[in-house]
Amino acid sequence: MNRDAFLLTDIHTLVTMSGSRTAPAPLLRDAAVLVRGNAIAWVGAAHELAIEGLNVRLPSGEVIALPSSAHLLRLRDHIVLPGLVNTHHHLFQTLTRCLAQDSGLFRWLKTLYPIWLGLTSEAIYVSALVGMAELMLSGCTTASDHLYIYPNDCSIDDEIRAAREIGLRFHATRGSMSLGESQGGLPPDKAVEREDHILHDSQRAIEQYHDASRHAMIRIALAPCSPFSVTPDLMRESARLARHYGVMLHTHLAETRDEEAFCLSRFGLRPLDYAEQVEWLGNDVWYAHGVHFSREDVHRMGACGCGVAHCPSSNMRLASGIAPVRLMLSAGVKVGLGVDGSASNDGNHLLLEARQALLLQRVTDASFALYGSEAAESTAISAYEALWLATRGGAEVLGRDDIGQIAPGFSADLIAINLNRVEYAGALHDPLAALVFCAPRGVDFSMINGRIVIQDGQLVTIDLQPIIERHNRISARLVRGE
Ligand SMILES: [Zn+2]
Repeated sequence: MNRDAFLLTDIHTLVTMSGSRTAPAPLLRDAAVLVRGNAIAWVGAAHELAIEGLNVRLPSGEVIALPSSAHLLRLRDHIVLPGLVNTHHHLFQTLTRCLAQDSGLFRWLKTLYPIWLGLTSEAIYVSALVGMAELMLSGCTTASDHLYIYPNDCSIDDEIRAAREIGLRFHATRGSMSLGESQGGLPPDKAVEREDHILHDSQRAIEQYHDASRHAMIRIALAPCSPFSVTPDLMRESARLARHYGVMLHTHLAETRDEEAFCLSRFGLRPLDYAEQVEWLGNDVWYAHGVHFSREDVHRMGACGCGVAHCPSSNMRLASGIAPVRLMLSAGVKVGLGVDGSASNDGNHLLLEARQALLLQRVTDASFALYGSEAAESTAISAYEALWLATRGGAEVLGRDDIGQIAPGFSADLIAINLNRVEYAGALHDPLAALVFCAPRGVDFSMINGRIVIQDGQLVTIDLQPIIERHNRISARLVRGE
């Protein structure tokens, strides 16, 4: 682990996200951030520091010696934010983009399951690197992934290895499917695993990888895939196993009307009632999507502290619907953003997802045009709220109090974007809004856990081009069905 000190100074605009969602902390101009080891040590105005050569004197009088000039970063023209947090993804789907282009969820899955049966350990590893690279280039510093299909020699270890190599903070969720077509489920029988094996491997993953400590780089959660691909028994047993170890629980819920119809016909319950019956309500649970919750469902989730990964691009791509984000936030539901698997997005761009969240909530907002976003009945979210969901919201959803803001004691996960570019010309009077209202590009700089991972817009932890070529070869083989 890199234990050096870094000073980021002359920052044009610093967004600390240290206020609340409804009361933002003021933006800091001409700011500085001192990083020591893997955490943020000091935040303030650049003029409060005295810099002589490589020595930085803090207002307290303490002097920090930077190891080299490469550790003194002058970020004029840059806006700096906490790294973005992705709360739902299926990285392997990066191999199978742009398929089933005109299908809703169930037909889309039926088209893709047979293709995914060709996945291998190498495919999981390489696609994870590619998906993580695109996420990181778009500002993501912490990502959760939901790997729920394990044909051939695939294992969750493959994507954890990728995360370690590329330097991404990673929550691997050990997904699962156990209800094949012959038992009334959606996936083909060949795509499901035996439940005793799933539980055994889930326990192994927790014991081998889960790190509950502050600034942890790897955590594990358990994630039976969806009501139509696992049994109630596996839901219950997974919940009990997760709670025994104190790890979180994740699943798809209330994504589409098809799923609701499945729950009603098979269990006689709507999705959230089913979740409750199988012990899946609680502040250690987050659901992907949450599009089709009733008002009463949302209040029940808020009361028990459930989280939701809002995935606007995927919900539009598969015509799933529009999640009631404003209602969930008012009811106290934790809400973060997810790009979802990049076969249903079809990108891994998290800053773009914040823009999509902002835009999508306005589509059905009848009061917005009349009263603006201040109207009590408006469902619109602001640019600040969209970025709050992408940072603090995501941190809350993943159960973390050490990421999502730039403040002393928090993990050193920071991104910087150069505002002096064509996309932002004309928007510099409001740099924060520019990030979501204007066309999003990649980040110029990113640090994760005190380690620089992107510099001058380039990923510096792996050699990406050969990985992309390898990825495209695997993708071609899968799509051809070989
Ligand atoms: Zn998903």
